[in-house]
Amino acid sequence: MKILRTHSADEFINWSGSLRFIPGWQVWPATEEAVCIYVRDAAVRSRKIRVVGSGHSSSALVQTPDILMSMRDHRGLIDYDLQASQATIGAGTVLHDLGPVLHDIGLSMQNLGDVDTQTIAGVISTGTHGSGRKLQNISATLVGVRLVTGAGEVVEWSAEEHADLIDAARVSMGLLGIFTALRLQLEPTFRLRRREYSARTDDCLTHLDELADAHRNFDFYWYPRRDEVKLRTLNPPEEPPPALPFARCIKDEEGFSHEIIARERELKFEELEYFVPAAAGPACFREVRRRILEHHRRHVGWRVLYRLIASDPGFLSPVHGRDSVAISVHQNASLPYQDYFDDIESILRAHDGRPHWGKKHSLQGCALASLYPRWTDFMKLRRELDPHGVFLTEAMARLVGEE
Ligand SMILES: Cc1cc2nc3c(=O)[nH]c(=O)nc-3n(C[C@H](O)[C@H](O)[C@H](O)COP(=O)(O)OP(=O)(O)OC[C@H]3O[C@@H](n4cnc5c(N)ncnc54)[C@H](O)[C@@H]3O)c2cc1C
Repeated sequence: MKILRTHSADEFINWSGSLRFIPGWQVWPATEEAVCIYVRDAAVRSRKIRVVGSGHSSSALVQTPDILMSMRDHRGLIDYDLQASQATIGAGTVLHDLGPVLHDIGLSMQNLGDVDTQTIAGVISTGTHGSGRKLQNISATLVGVRLVTGAGEVVEWSAEEHADLIDAARVSMGLLGIFTALRLQLEPTFRLRRREYSARTDDCLTHLDELADAHRNFDFYWYPRRDEVKLRTLNPPEEPPPALPFARCIKDEEGFSHEIIARERELKFEELEYFVPAAAGPACFREVRRRILEHHRRHVGWRVLYRLIASDPGFLSPVHGRDSVAISVHQNASLPYQDYFDDIESILRAHDGRPHWGKKHSLQGCALASLYPRWTDFMKLRRELDPHGVFLTEAMARLVGEE
């Protein structure tokens, strides 16, 4: 079997189209051994490797002048334990394919984000999240990893034996190594009822706390042009729906969790998203709303998304140590977004926000370090695991202040 597969590369273009570059080589190793060979070779030749999942991130996480590696041949279910509701999954597995495979063995992921087209390694690596006051981001379900370090060695960690290392690995953007397999804490298969409502913005804000408490998953979209909201809720189907006298139900459907949480997105957009402490969420949103109504409504029709995420211990998780509200603004991918994002970003930062690693933001180095209590621990581990800086491209070095 040919285990090293390479071709000199075409241009890489991310999902939204705003990140483009031509890597030296694109490689898709067939085996873990081949991943190690590529990494050792890159270390000797001072080349940089970045791993790409589905290419949905729009920050420069996967940009590299040298080797762009895909783990597309490391997909699928590796093993599982029904009693513990855990499964080990190939790092390149796409969530949309994973749902039915887990369903067939009676398991399912606790939550998903808005879409399921990303890879499992990609969502873990950037802290991808859905919404629900008691629900954590997907990386919080990581209980074990196999990883190829920057020295080209395979290490295997579990949450039981290496709690700190797993907490570092949760949201690590490919800086500690290349995941080949991930073990996740799952749940027995479950169904959800999805209801969506339209409502006046002020009514939604008045009842925000009750809404967050009453529903397993809750978020809302605010539409600047109409100044109205769409509430999205997901609950166990057997539970009677909470009364929402101020809202009009516009959608009511039911299905297994993997069929009903994520949606399809065809229209391409750019996005800026920050996580602010949960208590600051409503005031921060009110300020964003005011600023958009006053300055941006003519140019921006795209909605603003308000989501809730429970805290987790990931060293670089944007919700590290604090329950959070994620506020994101969008712009059509074919329209200018920078001035709009810069203006809104200043509000989100003023509320002690931390940016989503995979979306547009302007923070680097010290500005990021000061937001994360375990930053120094993460960077120390990064240097130990990647002594030659194989994964530290210029863009990543600037991002984490390790130039
Ligand atoms: C339409 C759309 C909807 C989205 N919805 C949400 C949402 O609801 N919630 C949310 O939080 N985010 C959301 N995102 C952001 C998205 O989930 C993240 O950008 C995610 O990281 C993308 O996964 P990916 O597989 O495309 O990874 P990529 O973008 O290709 O890579 C992301 C990171 O993972 C690293 N990586 C990938 N594979 C490996 C590996 N094997 N080992 C080590 N590192 C690896 C990469 O190096 C990079 O640092 C959305 C993005 C889009 C385009």
